[in-house]
Amino acid sequence: DWADLSDIVGGAVERAARLTRSHAVKVDIDPDMPLLCVDAVLLGQVFFNLLDNACKYSPPGTGIKVWARRAADHISIEVADQGPGIPEADREKVFDMFYRVGLTDSQPAGTGLGLAICRGIVEAHGGTIRAEAGLHGSGTAIIIRLPLPPSPDVAGEEA
Ligand code: ATP
Ligand code: MG
Repeated sequence: DWADLSDIVGGAVERAARLTRSHAVKVDIDPDMPLLCVDAVLLGQVFFNLLDNACKYSPPGTGIKVWARRAADHISIEVADQGPGIPEADREKVFDMFYRVGLTDSQPAGTGLGLAICRGIVEAHGGTIRAEAGLHGSGTAIIIRLPLPPSPDVAGEEA
């Protein structure tokens, strides 16, 4: 169904409020964002999972940013935190089921399924999801790319 990305992200931020209490969450969504043909419930789960991770793995008092922009044929969404980041060698593995970075007793509890589920949902929408270092090389940025259907008037001009 057609859904508004701001509503989906806003709902996830609200449901994650208890987790994000100790962080400052900033949402910046392109005002020209079109309605998206997505499963809003599943995509909401993706953002909830990413907010959960951002809170769990970054120090209290730091910021979390959800940013989204529209391009001609896709949209890019980024969930970024100011935590320790994910080592480059683990940035692809963290999307495997049950994979967790550097298991220690002090590590927050988790199953290692969140990002694998996120990838499944994003790929079911024809999109991609990856982990990168945040801006200036610190923190984590999870970057989602979702395809947009071709715009009818642009297609018409090309034909
Ligand atoms: P679950 O989400 O199933 O409760 P989890 O958080 O351990 O457990 P994932 O969400 O799949 O599992 O994340 C996998 C691993 O990637 C985490 O255990 C953690 O080591 C690392 N990770 C995920 N997000 C971040 C982040 N924002 N900053 C640093 N490390 C992260
Ligand atoms: Mg998780």
